[in-house]
Amino acid sequence: MSGLQSIRARWTAPDVGALFVVSGPSGSGKTTLLHAALRAVPGLEFSVSATTRGPRAGERDGVDYHFVTRAAFERLLEGGALLEHAEVYGNFYGTPRAPVEAALAEGRSIVLDIDVQGAAQVRAAHPEAVSVFVLPPNLAAIEARLRARGLDDDTIVARRVREADEQLAEAGEYDYLVMNDDLSSAHTQFQAVLVAELLRRSRRESWTLAARR
Ligand code: ADP
Ligand code: 5GP
Repeated sequence: MSGLQSIRARWTAPDVGALFVVSGPSGSGKTTLLHAALRAVPGLEFSVSATTRGPRAGERDGVDYHFVTRAAFERLLEGGALLEHAEVYGNFYGTPRAPVEAALAEGRSIVLDIDVQGAAQVRAAHPEAVSVFVLPPNLAAIEARLRARGLDDDTIVARRVREADEQLAEAGEYDYLVMNDDLSSAHTQFQAVLVAELLRRSRRESWTLAARR
């Protein structure tokens, strides 16, 4: 278990959930940090994106992504079913609108792992979104991690490293930064941001009311 070990004990859901947006260059560690955070922070839901990229080893359709054809992606787009979308590293990605809007309407919290173009579209539609940018210590670390991950061929790794700077250039638009150098520290930083947001007084009126009864 990584991050905030005992936060689950006696946790209660906030009255008003949060819309979290997480971005960072490929290999910065978003997936690793998110998987641990989804286990550690109660009541968080992951927004499963649609993508035209093919599945990597170990990825499950409907869990990691909805893997769709280009034609199916275009139908989703034309039908207004995507909250945002972008072309990233040569493939199309988009966030299904309905699960995000249902979560927000019901006070639940949801996390989107999306690129900087998508994050800008989400901010425009939902100015209350809370955004987190995961930074690598340097570009060399990204390349080493993508190679060590062993799930993308050399051409794909090279493209992702080349395009990392375009993502990094937008870090200034985000509310929070997480430095993923030492992984254990990054888990704690990331989970601390999520938990702090979920403890905002504006999301917790019922706690104060209950304490005064
Ligand atoms: P992203 O989702 O941002 O593309 P991943 O979470 O898939 O990145 O991480 C890329 C690779 O780097 C994975 O193999 C992961 O295990 C590894 N990794 C993540 N964080 C660190 C770290 N702090 N130090 C070393 N390796 C890491
Ligand atoms: P990967 O192919 O490594 O899973 O993801 C590549 C990039 O696409 C990452 O930066 C990831 O955050 C981004 N991404 C994943 N899903 C979406 C989405 O629904 N919308 C947008 N705009 N980007 C996404």
